Amino acid sequence: MTDAAVPSGPAPEKIPFGRPTMVGRELAYIEEAIRNGTIAGGGPFMKRCEAWLERELPARRALMAHSCTAALEMAAMLAEVGPGDEVIMPSFTFSSTATAFVLRGATPVFVDVRPDTLNIDEALIEPAITPRTRAIVPVHYAGVACAMDEIMAIADRHKLLVVEDAAQAHLSHYKGRALGTIGHLGCLSFHETKNIISGEGGALLVNDGRMIERAEILREKGTDRSRFFRGEVDKYTWRDIGSSYCPGEIVSAFLYAQFEQAEGIIAARRASYEAYRTGLASLARAGHVTLPAATADEANGHIFWLLAKDAAARAALLAHLNGRGINAVFHYVPLHSAPAGLRYARAHGNLSVTDDIASRLVRLPMYLGLGEGEVARVIDAIAAFYGKNA
Ligand SMILES: *Cc1c(COP(=O)(O)O)cnc(C)c1O
Repeated sequence: MTDAAVPSGPAPEKIPFGRPTMVGRELAYIEEAIRNGTIAGGGPFMKRCEAWLERELPARRALMAHSCTAALEMAAMLAEVGPGDEVIMPSFTFSSTATAFVLRGATPVFVDVRPDTLNIDEALIEPAITPRTRAIVPVHYAGVACAMDEIMAIADRHKLLVVEDAAQAHLSHYKGRALGTIGHLGCLSFHETKNIISGEGGALLVNDGRMIERAEILREKGTDRSRFFRGEVDKYTWRDIGSSYCPGEIVSAFLYAQFEQAEGIIAARRASYEAYRTGLASLARAGHVTLPAATADEANGHIFWLLAKDAAARAALLAHLNGRGINAVFHYVPLHSAPAGLRYARAHGNLSVTDDIASRLVRLPMYLGLGEGEVARVIDAIAAFYGKNA
């Protein structure tokens, strides 16, 4: 009996919101790591991952970490912020952006985002600067670049450090430069929800050469172990504060397999992004939804978002899609309205764009292996929703 002979037909397969990227050689490299006999941090696969980032981005110095949160924590230590100091960032981001600095006793100061990219509004940064401001943390939402020229110029004028939260921004560029390599420091994530993954994982890009040696010490529990392994000192010792931030070798082996396929992974996700953007253009023209301004080339296919007209329309659209087996979700309870945000941070000015977009944003399914047919099904389901609700 064929499917066609089943009277009611099978329910269409569910389309998940995301799936962890797998490229094929992960297990082979993990096996190689085990055979190598080194499974702590600092082994051959970790070094290959660092060399890959330094060559391909390129980055001056890449330090693998066990998460982007760890990389942000190292950045906060390198920024030498403490109680009373302020760090300017968007509220429309993940908790790690803020908590890394809160751990040092500093106060996140949230400014509003731009409605087109959902990134920090560079025009609002300078008015938020006080004598206590030490750093700016632009977050490249959905892998789309913040206005880095303007941000670096502001930082220069006020002698501030720029830490790029490039957690979502693998292989995205700004005027030809890889995101994460433009600020003094950049932080990448290889969490399983990102484009290139190792389960948990991250990297700190140290673009300001003056901070490289200290960054290595912070990552190695405050010791100069990295210099010892390079033969630069004859013993290693406790030099500074720090923590244990290296990824284990099994994680690096997994990640290196993904690095080898990075271009293909991003290209496939960009194709899905472009298909959504083209397929939903007429609904945007009709005023039902707002689409991201960034082209597939300006983004990296990490997230495809759209804005519904209001919170009620979003709730109805999400219910409609999920009812059809399509797992669409919303994004970010803004940090300024979260319990810890109220306790540890403050907002500069009103965050009306942040509040508005956070109440209307919908993220569509996006993962490596999302087929053209599945993208078409999502687009059709959205069109059907607006057909009925026009
Ligand atoms: C995912 C993410 C992080 C945290 O990354 P981890 O590797 O899970 O620690 C930080 N900032 C942003 C913007 C993220 O999207």
